[in-house]
Amino acid sequence: MNEREVFKNDSNEKLEKKLNNNIEFLTTLQKKEYVFEENRKETVIQKAREIIEILNQIGEKRKIEDLKSIKFPKKLKKKLIKKTGGCLACGQGEMASGSRHQNPIELHHIIPKMYGGDDDKKNALVVCKKCHLDMHN
Ligand SMILES: [Zn+2]
Ligand SMILES: [Zn+2]
Repeated sequence: MNEREVFKNDSNEKLEKKLNNNIEFLTTLQKKEYVFEENRKETVIQKAREIIEILNQIGEKRKIEDLKSIKFPKKLKKKLIKKTGGCLACGQGEMASGSRHQNPIELHHIIPKMYGGDDDKKNALVVCKKCHLDMHN
């Protein structure tokens, strides 16, 4: 049984609980001083994916005109990368975050914009491009 099938059989209440737990997990991650953990990558990516998946099932979408020009401020990005030291999933450092680098550091919306996620630091997750792509695929 894959994740999708599991979700289909869950009640919305269970999904909402899981959603909130996952959001809490990811939000707390960047509050702590960054310590790289070998097994964290899969967990972080999975929890981020589950949030998107759950919202795809039970989330209310924003109006398209409300989505225009929403982007994390550059200042916030700089600040968060400095604070976390790099990707919160795999541990790649900020030294490699230059635009010419193949795997730059980015910010992921923990709650996607289309489901009402904002561009504030509470909703931002510092990840490298590779881990970020894994979250959305
Ligand atoms: Zn990464
Ligand atoms: Zn993202």
